[in-house]
Amino acid sequence: MYEVYALKYGERDTTACQFFYRESSHEPITLHYFVWLILGGPHPVLVDTGFLDDEAQARGIRNYVSPAAVVERAGVKPADIPLALITHLHYDHWAGHSLFPAAEYWIQRDEVAFWTGRYARFGAFRGSANVGSLERLITLNYAARVRIVEGEHEVLPGIRVHRVGGHTAGLQIVSVETARGTLVLTSDASHFYRNVETGQPVQIITSLPEMLEAFETINQLAGAEKLIVAGHDPQVSERFKEVEPGIVKLA
Ligand SMILES: [Zn+2]
Repeated sequence: MYEVYALKYGERDTTACQFFYRESSHEPITLHYFVWLILGGPHPVLVDTGFLDDEAQARGIRNYVSPAAVVERAGVKPADIPLALITHLHYDHWAGHSLFPAAEYWIQRDEVAFWTGRYARFGAFRGSANVGSLERLITLNYAARVRIVEGEHEVLPGIRVHRVGGHTAGLQIVSVETARGTLVLTSDASHFYRNVETGQPVQIITSLPEMLEAFETINQLAGAEKLIVAGHDPQVSERFKEVEPGIVKLA
């Protein structure tokens, strides 16, 4: 059976009106930045890669630590990770890929197409990109380090990716069979519990219908146990067990 950890590597303060769809409230909110680690299979599986120090500086991230350092603190050498599932190619999920030099990166076809295609250059999307890391997506692909997947895909027995789109063109979420039931890593299909629990999207969207559909997919996959792990919510460390600062055992 798999064990799953949320590993926090930074924080950022913003306001509700900057973040939730058509929200008027100016109340302050804090995002936590995570990568996730799945243990108990034939090898560790990482979900997303975080970002490097340059993005932390440029975007005013508080309490940044290298995602590689947190993974190491969780007991896994970053160079020993052969597989990383990339939920989407926003800077905070992809720009840290070089920290995991042995990994093959699994990314949805629609996501790769979007960030190498017609709309990526427009300001509304460009702001979420780390261009250098997207350039390296091409060379990594030619080095056979990128595996492009489509739709729902079994990664290992009991670990699946599911393309939901919505927030980005090919966003995928991850389900993991655990001793407690099916755990759903939503990543940015639901940044906060408020998104999936009230049906309120985030402002950064490529398809509003797909984003709403994704909330239903999350609930269906999670079933009665409701082991849902929101992508950037500080509540993750309260709803699950924080075993040491920044390391939350999810299952
Ligand atoms: Zn994110």
